[in-house]
Amino acid sequence: MAKTNRPKKPNLKSATKSAAKSAASTDRDQIKPSAAVLKAWRLAVRTRLNAYAPYSKFQVGAALIDENGDHHPGCNVENASYGGTICAERNAMLRAVADGAKSVTDVIVVTDMNPPAVPCAMCLQVLSEFSQTETRVWLADLKGIKDSVLISELLPRHFGPKALARGLAR
Ligand SMILES: [Zn+2]
Repeated sequence: MAKTNRPKKPNLKSATKSAAKSAASTDRDQIKPSAAVLKAWRLAVRTRLNAYAPYSKFQVGAALIDENGDHHPGCNVENASYGGTICAERNAMLRAVADGAKSVTDVIVVTDMNPPAVPCAMCLQVLSEFSQTETRVWLADLKGIKDSVLISELLPRHFGPKALARGLAR
């Protein structure tokens, strides 16, 4: 299973930028998607077909795996008032929370892009609220999973509940 093969997160405090990048690359080379991740990928591919993207024509599917192994899909939903648009990843995250999920172990994102698209910064912020250090983002297209990266690599110093607690304590 992918979980047991996950190497320890590189220590970014002491590592140089290039060393951290190298560790991340090695990490990606070694990680194979589990059966649960492949199932989530298929769900994301199907859900992408429901994307409402009349303005960008950019369809995105997503699926999350929660702490119980349950899968939660999402697609992007655009709006004529562009600011009302929501990405597939946040759609999936909000659905997961509504379904009772407390945390996320895996995030699958499917586009027809090459190389595959990564979540936008706003989605990373929302996903990080419910992620662990080991939460993995799987980047995929319609043929399969192409790459993966830890969410903590994509957004290493996210604004989280701890930062807010410190602010309130002042
Ligand atoms: Zn997004």
